[in-house]
Amino acid sequence: MAVHTHQFAVETRGECDMHDLTHEVGEALRASGLRNGLATVFVRHTTAAIIVGEYEPGLIHDMPAQIERMAPASATYRHNALNHDDNAHSHLVGSIMGPSETTPFVDGSLMLGTWQQIILLELDTHPRRREIVVQLIGE
Ligand code: ZN
Repeated sequence: MAVHTHQFAVETRGECDMHDLTHEVGEALRASGLRNGLATVFVRHTTAAIIVGEYEPGLIHDMPAQIERMAPASATYRHNALNHDDNAHSHLVGSIMGPSETTPFVDGSLMLGTWQQIILLELDTHPRRREIVVQLIGE
Protein backbone atom coordinates (compact mmCIF):
# COMPACT_ATOMS: atom_id res chain seq x y z
CA MET A 1 0.00 0.00 0.00
CA ALA A 2 1.17 3.53 -0.76
CA VAL A 3 0.12 7.04 0.21
CA HIS A 4 0.35 9.99 -2.21
CA THR A 5 -0.51 13.54 -1.15
CA HIS A 6 -1.24 16.34 -3.60
CA GLN A 7 -1.92 19.93 -2.51
CA PHE A 8 -3.20 22.93 -4.43
CA ALA A 9 -5.06 26.18 -3.81
CA VAL A 10 -8.25 27.67 -5.23
CA GLU A 11 -9.16 31.37 -5.22
CA THR A 12 -12.89 31.76 -4.55
CA ARG A 13 -15.21 34.66 -5.30
CA GLY A 14 -17.07 34.59 -1.97
CA GLU A 15 -20.20 33.04 -0.52
CA CYS A 16 -21.63 30.06 -2.44
CA ASP A 17 -18.92 30.11 -5.11
CA MET A 18 -18.50 26.52 -6.30
CA HIS A 19 -15.51 24.90 -8.04
CA ASP A 20 -15.52 21.49 -9.69
CA LEU A 21 -12.34 19.75 -8.46
CA THR A 22 -12.99 16.42 -10.19
CA HIS A 23 -10.46 16.97 -12.98
CA GLU A 24 -7.71 17.98 -10.53
CA VAL A 25 -8.38 14.89 -8.39
CA GLY A 26 -8.29 12.66 -11.48
CA GLU A 27 -4.96 14.20 -12.52
CA ALA A 28 -3.54 13.56 -9.05
CA LEU A 29 -4.68 9.95 -9.31
CA ARG A 30 -3.07 9.50 -12.74
CA ALA A 31 0.18 11.08 -11.51
CA SER A 32 0.27 8.76 -8.48
CA GLY A 33 0.23 5.60 -10.57
CA LEU A 34 -2.07 3.98 -8.03
CA ARG A 35 -4.77 1.68 -9.42
CA ASN A 36 -7.06 0.77 -6.51
CA GLY A 37 -7.81 2.55 -3.27
CA LEU A 38 -9.41 5.63 -1.75
CA ALA A 39 -9.10 9.32 -2.66
CA THR A 40 -9.85 11.80 0.10
CA VAL A 41 -10.33 15.46 -0.82
CA PHE A 42 -10.03 17.79 2.18
CA VAL A 43 -10.30 21.57 2.50
CA ARG A 44 -8.19 23.06 5.32
CA HIS A 45 -10.70 25.71 6.42
CA THR A 46 -13.78 25.93 8.65
CA THR A 47 -15.88 28.15 6.36
CA ALA A 48 -15.72 25.99 3.25
CA ALA A 49 -16.92 22.50 2.41
CA ILE A 50 -16.17 19.64 0.06
CA ILE A 51 -19.31 18.04 -1.31
CA VAL A 52 -20.16 15.44 -3.92
CA GLY A 53 -23.00 16.58 -6.10
CA GLU A 54 -24.09 17.50 -9.59
CA TYR A 55 -22.20 20.58 -10.74
CA GLU A 56 -24.81 22.17 -12.99
CA PRO A 57 -26.29 25.69 -13.30
CA GLY A 58 -29.64 24.91 -11.66
CA LEU A 59 -28.16 23.51 -8.46
CA ILE A 60 -25.44 26.18 -8.40
CA HIS A 61 -28.27 28.73 -8.52
CA ASP A 62 -30.25 26.91 -5.79
CA MET A 63 -27.35 26.60 -3.33
CA PRO A 64 -27.52 30.09 -1.73
CA ALA A 65 -31.17 29.63 -0.73
CA GLN A 66 -30.41 26.18 0.68
CA ILE A 67 -27.54 27.56 2.77
CA GLU A 68 -29.78 30.39 4.00
CA ARG A 69 -32.35 27.77 5.13
CA MET A 70 -29.64 25.82 6.98
CA ALA A 71 -28.28 28.84 8.91
CA PRO A 72 -29.79 32.27 8.13
CA ALA A 73 -27.07 34.90 7.73
CA SER A 74 -29.21 37.53 9.48
CA ALA A 75 -29.77 35.51 12.67
CA THR A 76 -28.00 36.52 15.89
CA TYR A 77 -24.86 34.48 16.58
CA ARG A 78 -22.49 34.55 19.56
CA HIS A 79 -19.51 33.87 17.26
CA ASN A 80 -20.10 37.16 15.45
CA ALA A 81 -20.48 39.14 18.68
CA LEU A 82 -17.41 37.63 20.37
CA ASN A 83 -15.12 37.87 17.34
CA HIS A 84 -16.46 40.99 15.59
CA ASP A 85 -17.11 38.64 12.69
CA ASP A 86 -19.93 38.18 10.16
CA ASN A 87 -19.55 34.53 9.23
CA ALA A 88 -21.01 32.42 12.06
CA HIS A 89 -23.51 30.98 9.60
CA SER A 90 -20.57 30.05 7.33
CA HIS A 91 -18.89 28.11 10.14
CA LEU A 92 -22.14 26.37 11.10
CA VAL A 93 -23.00 25.26 7.58
CA GLY A 94 -19.38 24.20 7.10
CA SER A 95 -19.60 21.97 10.16
CA ILE A 96 -22.76 20.34 8.81
CA MET A 97 -21.46 19.76 5.28
CA GLY A 98 -17.96 18.83 6.39
CA PRO A 99 -14.47 19.49 5.05
CA SER A 100 -13.92 16.27 3.08
CA GLU A 101 -15.27 13.56 0.84
CA THR A 102 -13.75 10.15 0.11
CA THR A 103 -14.17 8.44 -3.26
CA PRO A 104 -12.98 4.93 -4.11
CA PHE A 105 -10.94 4.37 -7.25
CA VAL A 106 -10.74 1.10 -9.18
CA ASP A 107 -8.41 0.27 -12.10
CA GLY A 108 -7.14 3.84 -12.03
CA SER A 109 -10.57 5.50 -12.29
CA LEU A 110 -12.57 7.38 -9.68
CA MET A 111 -15.81 5.49 -9.05
CA LEU A 112 -17.99 8.60 -9.28
CA GLY A 113 -21.42 8.20 -10.81
CA THR A 114 -22.33 9.92 -14.08
CA TRP A 115 -23.72 12.99 -12.33
CA GLN A 116 -21.34 13.12 -9.39
CA GLN A 117 -18.60 15.72 -9.18
CA ILE A 118 -16.27 16.60 -6.30
CA ILE A 119 -17.02 20.24 -5.49
CA LEU A 120 -15.41 22.92 -3.34
CA LEU A 121 -18.16 25.09 -1.86
CA GLU A 122 -17.16 28.49 -0.48
CA LEU A 123 -19.26 29.42 2.56
CA ASP A 124 -17.45 32.53 3.80
CA THR A 125 -18.74 36.02 3.17
CA HIS A 126 -15.82 37.23 1.06
CA PRO A 127 -13.30 35.85 -1.47
CA ARG A 128 -10.76 33.47 0.05
CA ARG A 129 -7.75 31.40 -0.97
CA ARG A 130 -8.56 27.76 -0.15
CA GLU A 131 -5.93 25.10 0.43
CA ILE A 132 -7.01 21.67 -0.78
CA VAL A 133 -5.37 18.34 0.08
CA VAL A 134 -5.93 15.26 -2.07
CA GLN A 135 -4.68 12.13 -0.34
CA LEU A 136 -4.63 8.86 -2.24
CA ILE A 137 -4.25 5.61 -0.34
CA GLY A 138 -3.98 2.40 -2.26
CA GLU A 139 -1.85 0.15 -4.44
ZN1 ZN B 1 -15.68 33.47 11.90
